[in-house]
Amino acid sequence: MSLEPQMLKSLVKAAAEQVIASAAELTALDQAIGDGDHGVNMKRGFEAVLGKLDAIAALPPDEALKTIGKTLVMTVGGASGPLYGSFFLAAGDALSNKQLPADLADVFGSGVSAVSARGRSKAGEKTMLDVLFPVLETLQSEAISPELIARVRSTAHEAAVRTAPMQATKGRASFLGARSIGHVDPGARSSCVLVHAVCDTLEARS
Ligand code: ADP
Ligand code: MG
Repeated sequence: MSLEPQMLKSLVKAAAEQVIASAAELTALDQAIGDGDHGVNMKRGFEAVLGKLDAIAALPPDEALKTIGKTLVMTVGGASGPLYGSFFLAAGDALSNKQLPADLADVFGSGVSAVSARGRSKAGEKTMLDVLFPVLETLQSEAISPELIARVRSTAHEAAVRTAPMQATKGRASFLGARSIGHVDPGARSSCVLVHAVCDTLEARS
């Protein structure tokens, strides 16, 4: 994998398009345990990213990630905007002195740590981190390969499904207490969609 401009553009385009295509599903999940805006929030943010696609793809990869982060902070709103924004800003910062693909786990890990710091949240609280942490662990387990990409895909899916029986202790869903149990967390699902978009693109190109 290399982050040449064409690859970067394909990754960003796939991520944005798949989030936008999932808006109705994300909204339905947020209607069950939140305020029903996660799909609209994410769609707005990733439409803004898509609108800047050519400019983003022309930037060095670290600057591209930071531009995505700033765009999401400015456009997504809700709790998830600053959190996803922090992820891409921190990943971009980390990438400025790292190499891909060798340091992919480090770069992804910097993003995950930023979400955790910004959200004052950890694993097991029924949030996007319940997908991001398991994906990070899988990335840390071995060098990138087609097999690893397949494992990342299943890790993300299984981790999102595993949020259903959890009780939320962070974010709006925590207001529901035990009534948050039995539904997949919307942010966990959007993280899964983003991770799957990256896997799809890498698989198509390898
Ligand atoms: P809001 O909750 O403000 O309406 P969204 O609906 O866009 O914002 O996003 C909700 C998602 O954000 C949740 O499903 C959860 O995954 C994530 N989230 C909320 N608070 C936190 C937090 N403190 N740490 C990590 N993720 C969080
Ligand atoms: Mg919401």
